[in-house]
Amino acid sequence: MTPHCPRCGRPLPAVPPSVCGSCGYAVFVNPRPTSSIIVLDGDRYLALLRAREPNKGRWDLPGGFCEGWEHPADTAVREAREELHVEVRLDRFVGMFIGEYRYQEEVLPVLDCFWIASIVDGVLSPDPSEADGHEWLPLHDPPPMAFATQDVALREASTLLGAVRSE
Ligand SMILES: [Zn+2]
Repeated sequence: MTPHCPRCGRPLPAVPPSVCGSCGYAVFVNPRPTSSIIVLDGDRYLALLRAREPNKGRWDLPGGFCEGWEHPADTAVREAREELHVEVRLDRFVGMFIGEYRYQEEVLPVLDCFWIASIVDGVLSPDPSEADGHEWLPLHDPPPMAFATQDVALREASTLLGAVRSE
């Protein structure tokens, strides 16, 4: 699909980064940041069954896209409130990974940020519009997740915690 100028709608001369030949607008494609949490209970983590596309029916971590000028750490806490109805404490930053998000016939680059988190208040009750169910799954042997960056983040979290425990 030929990319179009988001300002004037004419076809761009090349895949961005490029400059629109009609209006002169410089077009860049940057990853969109997301934040997700690995909520732990002992050696298990909280997984949600995705209720929505993309990847409906796959195991997912609580999280979502950062809004506007929101700090990714604030996104993580907000998403826990909205999706799980709990307050979380972010215990440890796991890392950020470049992934892809297929939606509305587009493939967008995303910058997925992950924290290990704990529930500090509230009763876990995942929002049914986001999750068809939830399960506490083994951190050291997780199933394939909805997004490849989640597989990487879970491995990373498992390694981090293993290192902490052997200290
Ligand atoms: Zn243009």
